Amino acid sequence: MDKIAKLTKLKEKALKDDSLPLKKGATNLVFGIGNPDAKVLFIGEGPGYYEDMKAEPFVGRAGALLDQMLLLIKLPREDVYITNVVMYRPPENRDPTSQEIDAFKPYLDGIVEIIRPKIISTLGRFSMAKFLPGVYISDVHGKVKTIDWKGQKITVIPMYHPAAALRNSQIKTKLQADFEIIPGILESGGEEIETKDDKMDSEQIKLI
Ligand code: URA
Repeated sequence: MDKIAKLTKLKEKALKDDSLPLKKGATNLVFGIGNPDAKVLFIGEGPGYYEDMKAEPFVGRAGALLDQMLLLIKLPREDVYITNVVMYRPPENRDPTSQEIDAFKPYLDGIVEIIRPKIISTLGRFSMAKFLPGVYISDVHGKVKTIDWKGQKITVIPMYHPAAALRNSQIKTKLQADFEIIPGILESGGEEIETKDDKMDSEQIKLI
């Protein structure tokens, strides 16, 4: 089975899965979108209003900023894959709970296993915690870490969530700098090449 067939099968399974939380209040399953052969996988938090309407991740204001960042590094959106830690919209865009994140884990893990990306860019603290538990985004954003994930070597780049960057111009500048790390890693074949020491981020605050 090729990657498209595997992703389609997994999505169909998720669509039929009535045990998934948040399903009742949502319009659509927002499974993921992009290139099955993507070298870069972006993982956000969960669908918002527009994503729920369009059944597509990152199509609202945060999505527009994500597009702007991709343009900046000349990485076409069609070349990457984008998904979220929860695939139905949480009511009023509240944070997803750990139980909700756990419930979607088989589907998110399935996507990672099928795509086998070189790089995972986590957008916000919820997807960061999946790969880098117990750290603060303000301390580690932009610090590249190569991990062994179920036998796959993946370079993880924790980043702020674009929605946080929309609210705070300093975070937007940091998000931009973190995106600029991606092309160098792609050129180096996915190896860890840079670890940024961001001394300005000493405050131990949790930001998405
Ligand atoms: N925010 C997210 O985390 N994901 C989306 O798909 C849209 C906004």
